[in-house]
Amino acid sequence: MAVGKEKLIENLKRVQDNIAAAAQRIGRDPARITLVAVTKAAELEDIQNLIELGVLDIGENRVQQLTSRAAAIADWLDKQGIATENRPRWHMIGHLQRNKVKNVLPIAHLIHSVDTLRLAEEIDKRAEQIGKVADILLQVNCSLEPQKFGVAVGAAASLAEQICTLKNIRLLGLMTMAPLVDDPEKARPAFVRLRELFEEMRNEKIGGNDFRHLSMGMTQDYQVAIEEGATIVRIGTALFQ
Ligand SMILES: *Cc1c(COP(=O)(O)O)cnc(C)c1O
Repeated sequence: MAVGKEKLIENLKRVQDNIAAAAQRIGRDPARITLVAVTKAAELEDIQNLIELGVLDIGENRVQQLTSRAAAIADWLDKQGIATENRPRWHMIGHLQRNKVKNVLPIAHLIHSVDTLRLAEEIDKRAEQIGKVADILLQVNCSLEPQKFGVAVGAAASLAEQICTLKNIRLLGLMTMAPLVDDPEKARPAFVRLRELFEEMRNEKIGGNDFRHLSMGMTQDYQVAIEEGATIVRIGTALFQ
């Protein structure tokens, strides 16, 4: 069921206020933190409302849903004659299979979930075919437990270096998913690990000036993630529930 515009306005304000407060606690400019609204469990109507409220970064974790929704939203915006610069940017945040790269690449503004060289090579190849440079993040497993996706912290820098040799890819930074925990403070060590890795990689000049983003923090832990340096937070439940 759609949450409706009134509730969405309220939820959005609360999330934006929390983002601002967390940024201010560590002396960062809230305007430099990008809110990606994760719409995997939202209705199309809520996405439309959110776009009307000015949230233009939208994240989906499945290729099929990302492409179908991007098409539906594009139709809706076409009917209203909305200019390209006021259109949403679609973020692919979930696990990406190589055989789906060709579908998502023309639409995705940023792919957050690259974690193998084989996947990066497929993105590079398909990007070249459509004359595009693909912006990506490297997904890192920063929790101490094994996770299904994400390169291990110890292997991340060398993978990033290999990815940076691919001509049709731009590595913009790192992404992680903290373990699901009851207390957001328990997620903090994973964010600290990602930030430290990010700083080490910057010192080694991996990714050059493009390398600037830390995508970390979801509903349960985005305030902590911002305190630890997130530049992109990915939030679903707090907006649509
Ligand atoms: C679903 C999802 C989110 C958002 O999770 P919420 O807890 O609903 O805020 C963020 N990142 C990824 C990769 C997701 O799949």
